[in-house]
Amino acid sequence: SKKEEATIPEKIIVGTNAEFPPFEYVDDNKKIDGFDIAMMKEIAKRMDVKIEIKNMEFKSLIGSLESKTINAVAAGMTKDPERTEAVDFSDSYYTSSQVMIVKKDSKLKKMTDLKGKKVGVQEGTTGDKLATGENFGEKQKPVVKGVDVRRFPKGVNAVMDLKNGGVDAVVIDEKPAMEFVKNNKGLKIVRDKAAEEYYCIALPKGNEKLVKEINKQLKAMKEDGTLDKLKAKYIDK
Ligand code: GLN
Repeated sequence: SKKEEATIPEKIIVGTNAEFPPFEYVDDNKKIDGFDIAMMKEIAKRMDVKIEIKNMEFKSLIGSLESKTINAVAAGMTKDPERTEAVDFSDSYYTSSQVMIVKKDSKLKKMTDLKGKKVGVQEGTTGDKLATGENFGEKQKPVVKGVDVRRFPKGVNAVMDLKNGGVDAVVIDEKPAMEFVKNNKGLKIVRDKAAEEYYCIALPKGNEKLVKEINKQLKAMKEDGTLDKLKAKYIDK
């Protein structure tokens, strides 16, 4: 019943896709780490509940939340209207936008230059939606049409395909793009006007109590500097 659902779980089971540095990645010791993970651990600690991290494909996260395999998603996930029909979102903890990764000698300059080009994306992401011409947010601009979209399970697969002469560009969130360009020679980032995207924690639909509690902890962590400290440690290193 609705009443049963509206409780704080004893354990936060966080679904993520640890292929999205610096927000989540598998570190040298094969442990899942990153900004989102550290943030969720701190939230769980403050709520005095246990935490477990489950690594899965990005496109499976919302479904896992709906089927209750997990009860939170921290995956650099942008709040958008389609997802909001299936899940509830916390307040935003990070603002991002889409950029293009291209080879250093590429002439592509604008999102609209992608028309007729092969573009790699991570399946099910807002980068996928942008390249597909879906207007995933009120402010999404420009709407890109006529792109030959190639979908990959991980962003890094798309980047490898770009390096190997497959796709002409990769559309992906800015900070992961910066990590991929840093770790792969011969690539550059092209920034064009793209909508602001707000990363939020996705939570089961209808558990207002949980949303409130998570928002309370996020607010406290914003106000006491904890979130800024984590940003400095993981993102703006
Ligand atoms: N922010 C993008 C989205 O929400 C990408 C997230 C990701 O690939 N982990 O779709």
